[in-house]
Amino acid sequence: MRKLVLVKYAPEIFLKGLNRNRFEKKLKDNIKKVLEGTDYEFVIDQGRWFIYSEKLEEVVHKVIKVFGISEVCIVTEVEASMEEIKKQALEEVKGLKAATFKVETNRANKNFKGTSMDISREVGAYILKNAPELTVQISKPQHTINVEIRDKAYVYSNRIKAVGGLPYGMNGSTMLMLSGGIDSPVAGYMMARRGVEISCVYYHSHPYTSERAKEKVKQLAAILSSYTGKVTLYVVPFTDIQMAIIEKCREDELTIIMRRFMTRIACKLAHKFNIQSVTTGESIGQVASQTMEGLVVSTDVADRPMFRPLIAMDKQDIMNISREIGTYETSILPYEDCCTIFVPKHPKTKPALDKMRKAESVLDVDNLVEEAIKNMEVYNL
Ligand code: ATP
Ligand code: MG
Repeated sequence: MRKLVLVKYAPEIFLKGLNRNRFEKKLKDNIKKVLEGTDYEFVIDQGRWFIYSEKLEEVVHKVIKVFGISEVCIVTEVEASMEEIKKQALEEVKGLKAATFKVETNRANKNFKGTSMDISREVGAYILKNAPELTVQISKPQHTINVEIRDKAYVYSNRIKAVGGLPYGMNGSTMLMLSGGIDSPVAGYMMARRGVEISCVYYHSHPYTSERAKEKVKQLAAILSSYTGKVTLYVVPFTDIQMAIIEKCREDELTIIMRRFMTRIACKLAHKFNIQSVTTGESIGQVASQTMEGLVVSTDVADRPMFRPLIAMDKQDIMNISREIGTYETSILPYEDCCTIFVPKHPKTKPALDKMRKAESVLDVDNLVEEAIKNMEVYNL
């Protein structure tokens, strides 16, 4: 008898047909990556995945953050015999007083005698006999005791929800524009959760934005990497670009022109590192630059798809996700960001595309972009 972690993957992966092997392989590789440094053994029993380790808690803590896994359970492995199964099932309800329960059986081992229903009934009767203060309730019981019969039998009653989604790295790549705010880490998380590999770019306006602001973004990238395994963060100096815009363009056009530069640099970096798309944390109507017109103007200079997974979400819902994934506390640290420092008093909310193209033509755009990229810093988190 020993305890193991049962790993259940998202039902969506079952629907992948011929691709299922590829998804499973990727998922297994990703699990191995997060467990690097922990002693463990991978156990497969008739298609079910289990992890054996002396450090079960640590394994659970790490594995529930692997995209593609929907649930993990701490199970007790016993010999596939009715006697052993009953003994362990009773152990699962030990200490419960006046609670309701049911037994649910999955019999993958067709050599094992009896139907799933028969087995559940027999185990349930055994529990009732030995713990008479409990009652059986089939719909919505307080406790469900699960029995899985394969080569061995596995008995468990605690299920822990995991992140779900699809295996990281299965669905291409994106360059996430990561600011220190609440939204962009959530946007990155959402793409990563669907299997898209993320790299991050942060525009840093030294000395107007402090070292602390940069550290905060690094911290956010590190939190994202606790889900993805690793994240590369490109820190691109942005001050010269902002100064050039302030010097040569109208004040009310500053933000929108700045946003075009952000798009350009993200696309350039994506091209340079073979990344297919760009992602931002924008949400329609949230601030002056996130009007439909603003989005049209900032997308105009993109040479690849730009994804905005939060586009139709309310701020409150974004904040809830941010709390759930653990980025909120860092995001609300009150350090300045480059957009709030150089913010015009009356920013244009409905910029016209041709006017903006023209307004910007007084700048040496290519050179500014190139210089910024030349001077970027790279962090692996
Ligand atoms: P966030 O909470 O992500 O900062 P926001 O609501 O503050 O978003 P904006 O400041 O207008 O909105 O930024 C919109 C998007 O542009 C951000 O979600 C992010 O993707 C990108 N962005 C803004 N500032 C930066 C920056 N300094 N570096 C990298 N990306 C940025
Ligand atoms: Mg912001």
